[in-house]
Amino acid sequence: MKSLTTLFFFLITSTATTKVYICKSNGATKYHLKTNCRGLSSCNYKTMEITLEKAKKEGKKLCAWED
Ligand SMILES: [Zn+2]
Repeated sequence: MKSLTTLFFFLITSTATTKVYICKSNGATKYHLKTNCRGLSSCNYKTMEITLEKAKKEGKKLCAWED
């Protein structure tokens, strides 16, 4: 049971599978963990779901509003 929990924890924290949200506007440099984030609410464009890995590859940084 414990190993299952560990595996699940690994899966949800893996950068390859973690989904983050970005504002699809020009010059958006941040990614967000939640769609209801304060930083995203100011986005006037479409919100897009991408993997954390891709966000990092594009040079995006974690939004300052996230903990
Ligand atoms: Zn955010």
